[in-house]
Amino acid sequence: MACAEALRAGRTKYGPVAGLPELRKAITVKLWRENHSEYAPDEIVVTCGAKEAIFAALQVLIGPGDEVIIPAPYWVSYSDEVLLCDGRPVIVATAEAQNFKLMPEALTQAITKRTKLLILNSPCNPTGAVYTKAELSALAEICTREGIWVLSDEIYEHLTYPPAEFVSFADAAPGHRERTVLVNGPSKAYAMTGWRIGFAAGPKQLIQAMLSWQGQVVTHPTTFAQHGAIAAYEGTQAPVAAMKKAFQERRDAMMHALEGIPNLGYSRPDGAFYLLPNVSAYLGKRGGRRISTSAELSDYLLDQAHIAVVPGEAFGTPGYLRFSYALGLPDLREGMQRFAEALRALQ
Ligand code: PLP
Repeated sequence: MACAEALRAGRTKYGPVAGLPELRKAITVKLWRENHSEYAPDEIVVTCGAKEAIFAALQVLIGPGDEVIIPAPYWVSYSDEVLLCDGRPVIVATAEAQNFKLMPEALTQAITKRTKLLILNSPCNPTGAVYTKAELSALAEICTREGIWVLSDEIYEHLTYPPAEFVSFADAAPGHRERTVLVNGPSKAYAMTGWRIGFAAGPKQLIQAMLSWQGQVVTHPTTFAQHGAIAAYEGTQAPVAAMKKAFQERRDAMMHALEGIPNLGYSRPDGAFYLLPNVSAYLGKRGGRRISTSAELSDYLLDQAHIAVVPGEAFGTPGYLRFSYALGLPDLREGMQRFAEALRALQ
């Protein structure tokens, strides 16, 4: 509606590189209202999705050979974006038994003289892990001591399921503010994935540098789409709560289906819309051909059961499959039934 009105009103021209002032303002209000963090409009850059915000931050923060710590399983784009900036992704494995969360000891061990940045993602794609305030503070303490930047990707903030609660890194670690970049946007919270609007919030100097970069690369995100984002942030938030409830029902149905399948471990996801079952017990079996890896198992599932899952290899965690529950319940139930049958058929 707001976007259609903006189009009708001819708001189709170039605008400010940093994004519309009304949108930057709306984002500061959102950060205060929902995340208890105070940011000024000139500490915000509106980007073409959270993805561009991450890349812009990496572009200005990372130089050749700089190391970026990425806990695995990780969202597919992080490591490639670091490589595109000539940085070195340092992948740190997390344990299923610890709900795939980065432990302070593992972080400390991964730090070298070249470490520049830690990427955190809570709620996490693909694991659904949600860090508590205490867990974030413990990681922040190390980063503050070592002078390491933190990029906190908070794109799934509205999808957490009780008792889990979302905590923004800026809220958990106010003392680390000068080396914190928050990344967020309306894509997931308002089902606006195709609008390509996101934002980064951080210290003014960093945001200025990101603006210089953005100005030469995309100029700014689409003007009329930004009007839609303003409406999302300023309008009623009731649809967000309704969507969260629907996702929780789907998650519960998916967990129930997984529990009925023998030899399949999984860590209970507290957020986002993914499950990451451990399928290692099914590797080494035959389904027409020999299936040795989770990538081969996902091919088999696509060919035989016509269900699409993403193999753990894509997230730095072979032996797992990622299921997305961004589909209606009937389709999910049908998919899980086919999954169970396809696993049963393996010999
Ligand atoms: N961060 C994570 C963890 C994601 O899963 C995604 C999209 O799937 C993004 C960022 C990108 O968000 P956007 O569509 O706003 O660029």
